[in-house]
Amino acid sequence: MPEAQFESRSPQQPSDVVATFTEPGPADVAARVAAARRAQPTWARTPPVERATVIDRAATSIQANAAELVDLVVREVGKPRVEAVGEVDRAVAILRYFAQQVLDPDGETYPSADGRAMLFVRRRPRGVVGLVTPWNFPVAIPAWKLAPALACGNSVVVKPAPQGAASSERFLSLLGDALPEGVLTSVVGGGRVGGQLVSLVDAVSFTGSTAVGRQIAVDLAPLGTPYQAEMGGQNPSIVLPDANVDHAAATIAGAAMYFAGQKCTATSRVVVVGRNRPFLDALVDRVSAIDVGDPDRSDCLCGPVIDEAARTNVVTAIADAVGHGARLLCGSATPPTGAGWYVRPTVVETDDPAAPLAQEEVFGPLCSVLHADTVEQAVQIANGTRYGLSSSIFTTDLGSVLRHLDQLQSGMIRVNAATSGVDFFAPFGGERDSNRGPREQGRAARDFFTTTATYTVAPAG
Ligand code: NAP
Ligand code: MG
Repeated sequence: MPEAQFESRSPQQPSDVVATFTEPGPADVAARVAAARRAQPTWARTPPVERATVIDRAATSIQANAAELVDLVVREVGKPRVEAVGEVDRAVAILRYFAQQVLDPDGETYPSADGRAMLFVRRRPRGVVGLVTPWNFPVAIPAWKLAPALACGNSVVVKPAPQGAASSERFLSLLGDALPEGVLTSVVGGGRVGGQLVSLVDAVSFTGSTAVGRQIAVDLAPLGTPYQAEMGGQNPSIVLPDANVDHAAATIAGAAMYFAGQKCTATSRVVVVGRNRPFLDALVDRVSAIDVGDPDRSDCLCGPVIDEAARTNVVTAIADAVGHGARLLCGSATPPTGAGWYVRPTVVETDDPAAPLAQEEVFGPLCSVLHADTVEQAVQIANGTRYGLSSSIFTTDLGSVLRHLDQLQSGMIRVNAATSGVDFFAPFGGERDSNRGPREQGRAARDFFTTTATYTVAPAG
């Protein structure tokens, strides 16, 4: 059977083939996992100070090659240059942060029942960890998974998404060169390769769509393999009547539209409490002012969506919503002409929180506006999807904040701040269909990438 070939193309210039990959066959995937399995015990036994130094040296290698990686991310996934710079810088910071975690306390002691023995708990690596990652952060997402996995003494095999695979592969090969052989490898391929990888490893960390994440959860259930899955979102921002209009409008416009709305934490619903014409006008002004264009330009904030299928998906969602009575406040279902998978940033007002546009993740520069009479109703609308990744409230009333924050059913809750954005040193993750399994990043990461053993050491007599 001929092996499958993948092409990764530039979304701003689809004739530009960034890289071609040959999908590895099952024996090849198994061989890479076996190599990772052979390398892991030595890596886990490497003295902690040395392990920290090796990871830190890998960060230095990324820093030294940052300009090349930024160019590749811009070209391959159409990420605006300013955000690509931020992503690569963040990966370096993540590697340095987790390098230091190697030296954190690795357990707890307890008084023993008889007062003579030592009773303690130690963290231990899981073994070989499989990472399955999406195309939209082809450097930062592998980084925030592999850095804690390696720091905890695991070896790692990554399966990046084909649309961002050239960026992920360059990043991983720079890291791999700085690490002992076999400790970090990758396999580029489609869902079949991802499915095989997760079946062979000791723990799985996935980021991607809800459909795939749920499938992985089902596939792993009979194996009992621990996993974490961070998935899609339909993130709401609630705007209260006392909100700072300019700040709310500017922040929400950016959270919905920058990088063409292709962040899992992008704002996709704006729930406006009370008739707030000044806010709606300001939002439309801000969104209309976003210049859509070549992501390589230093002032670009909104480039193309990832591929033709993604653009079809977005324009179909806009056309369907308008066909069912939603009102177009700005933007269009007609994409700009010319090369590149561009879509105009679009805001659609609807009276129906159950409309598909207000329920499903579209992954493009598109958000809906919904209206509520009261904060309670707004919270109910905000919670009224199957997702629960990130929510925000815009208000100057501390009382409202305190009354309603805990009612929002999402993993990330923000006040007067964008739904988008991730702090790698704090726990990150969603609720409901945005998540399965424990949190990632920050100090939460090692709870997933280690297991613990409880030791009793008694005197010989
Ligand atoms: P995706 O289609 O779900 O793919 C994610 C990864 O899973 C890819 O590497 C994919 O390979 C692989 N895969 C597909 N089927 C598989 C299977 N049966 N077993 C194992 N692996 C399989 O997601 P995407 O299109 O790359 O990324 C966009 C999505 O990611 C959005 O839904 C977004 O919300 C989500 N996301 C979530 C977060 C978060 O932290 N919550 C962050 C970023 C993105 P193929 O591409 O070859 O199918
Ligand atoms: Mg995909």
